[in-house]
Amino acid sequence: MSATLFDLKGKTAIVTGCNTGLGQGMALGLAEAGCNIVAVNRRAPEDTQRHVEALGVGFLSIEADLGSTAPIEDILVRTQETFGHADILVNNAGTIRRADSLEFTEKDWDEVMDVNLKSLFFLSQAFARRCIDKQRRGKIINIASMLSFQGGIRVPSYTASKSGVLGLTRLMANEWAPKGINVNAIAPGYMATNNTEALRNDPERSEEILKRIPAGRWGESEDLAGAAVFLASSASDYVHGHALAVDGGWLAR
Ligand code: NAP
Repeated sequence: MSATLFDLKGKTAIVTGCNTGLGQGMALGLAEAGCNIVAVNRRAPEDTQRHVEALGVGFLSIEADLGSTAPIEDILVRTQETFGHADILVNNAGTIRRADSLEFTEKDWDEVMDVNLKSLFFLSQAFARRCIDKQRRGKIINIASMLSFQGGIRVPSYTASKSGVLGLTRLMANEWAPKGINVNAIAPGYMATNNTEALRNDPERSEEILKRIPAGRWGESEDLAGAAVFLASSASDYVHGHALAVDGGWLAR
């Protein structure tokens, strides 16, 4: 297979929540394939910026809190002003709250759903409208989870949001595939980031999880780079509504 299938030179990707963790791993993978990066974060992603710029591609930082849909228009406008157009959108920003379902609060419900599901949908909508207006292809990559497929424990709003991400990925793919937009998801397994710090610090849960991963290790942020480049590139032009698990074999078990 030709390497040019995965070439992203001259393309621009908006990546949300890429100051750390999986978003950073995917932003660096896309940049290595030649892609300019629009980094959307609550605070300046200095480490990501340094690494992306060292690869010789363009970098734009936009500070935005995706707990609200208010910044979405501005993200698209500023991307257009700097790079002309966004070809790729990676909806990675996500948050989690842990508590027993009997105690779970409405605040913890809303805060998770607003970032993980509502902003993901409306940012995708704003991105897709522009692709369609300009008659350009687009690639949307949503970050799902093992809890798009399984129930989980003590994370009701997270499970609801990530199950919703899988449903929305399929819905948007159905509506936008005929318009030249690929909508797919990556479903990471158990990855060593801030999101799983509480789990990894709990010796009992941590051992239970590790024993169940066929690959025998927690995933690392770099493990998502290949899947992100594939779903962002022309190599995946006929892939629509798919959730690609990058999970060390967790779902196969
Ligand atoms: P992480 O290190 O906590 O990263 C989450 C990212 O989302 C951070 O950049 C965070 O910014 C950003 N974010 C959270 N709330 C935001 C808001 N209101 N506005 C803008 N940005 C916001 O965890 P991660 O594991 O890399 O998570 C990345 C994605 O992967 C999430 O969607 C998560 O649900 C998903 N995921 C993770 C795992 C795993 O095992 N780690 C597994 C499956 C799916 P701040 O730094 O400012 O908080």
